Amino acid sequence: MRQGSEKNTRTPRPWAKPAGGLILAGLLAASIVPAATIKDARSRMGSDFEITAVHAQEAAARSAIDAAWAEIDRIEAMISSWREDSETSEVNRNAGIRPVQVSPELFRLIRRAIKVSELTHGAFDITFAAAGDLWDFRADDPEVPSEEAIETVLRSVGYRKIHLDDEGQTVFLENRGARIGFGAIGKGYAANRAVFVLKEHGVRGGLVSAGGDLVAFGRREDGEPWSIAIAHPRDRKRVLARIPLTEQAVVTSGDYEQYFIHEGRRYAHIIDPRTGWPASGLQAVTVICPDAELADALATAAFVLGPEEGLALVERMEGVEALFVTETGEVRSTSNIRRHLNQEDRG
Ligand code: ADP
Ligand code: MG
Repeated sequence: MRQGSEKNTRTPRPWAKPAGGLILAGLLAASIVPAATIKDARSRMGSDFEITAVHAQEAAARSAIDAAWAEIDRIEAMISSWREDSETSEVNRNAGIRPVQVSPELFRLIRRAIKVSELTHGAFDITFAAAGDLWDFRADDPEVPSEEAIETVLRSVGYRKIHLDDEGQTVFLENRGARIGFGAIGKGYAANRAVFVLKEHGVRGGLVSAGGDLVAFGRREDGEPWSIAIAHPRDRKRVLARIPLTEQAVVTSGDYEQYFIHEGRRYAHIIDPRTGWPASGLQAVTVICPDAELADALATAAFVLGPEEGLALVERMEGVEALFVTETGEVRSTSNIRRHLNQEDRG
């Protein structure tokens, strides 16, 4: 008789006896409690955010998601540089004037940002903002600033000009006109915090997409791992790689969302803090590691560093993978990603 046929599954088994059955029911309960997947999309931090939560009870999932939105809002209120009443704006207003006492949370975020600057030799730098303010990539008629204007603001750029005082929990920007901006790390931090809040509310699996910066945790409703498709920066329908994710963040920095073209040259929103000019050399870089905040900052840094130096940086870091698309369309990646690449991009 064939084993495992439909009919055979009804054959009584020893474990079907009452006592054994209870044990089995107990063992299965954890995995077969029906779960629902709830999604909620909103506009936050100037981007499209989406939260996906897997939970046995829909109402509980919804309140977890609400708590995660509240957390994201709280962070935005702290780091926004366009909101006058944020702690960040207070620091910026007092650049070159006086140290400003900030919350321990913002203090720590700035400290971590400076660490990434050190790690990336200044390619990632929250003081880029003074130079960034000269460029308006969303304007109807964007302009290229003058060399003189860039040279002037560059004097205020440099993470070493941020002075942190542990005792007073103060932040002081050395130069008048200096600015800090969290555009390249804030969404990653917010995504991390949102995941923390969802887990705290009993959500067993989910996804947070913070303007495309993605973090996955736990499993999907069907018990499978989450997976993400990385699209080609010039052809969003073309999938470069499909990567299974468990407790990982995937963050892409690219030149295809905020940019303008002037006299045949593409200017995109990631600024090389060392020159004040938009970085070139890559169309996109995707960084994968467990920490969304680090992935966010590293993706920006790798974009500034370009394909060679950028790849060398992530290769040195344990648990960090990356995929690069160079300005000529060449695909390069760390070795662990290579097996997930499309055959034709493996090289
Ligand atoms: P996105 O915001 O599209 O996800 P990034 O994470 O790469 O992309 O962040 C780009 C943003 O980060 C810019 O819009 C700007 O606000 C800020 N930024 C630009 N260049 C730098 C830099 N070199 N270091 C830190 N922040 C930067
Ligand atoms: Mg970034």
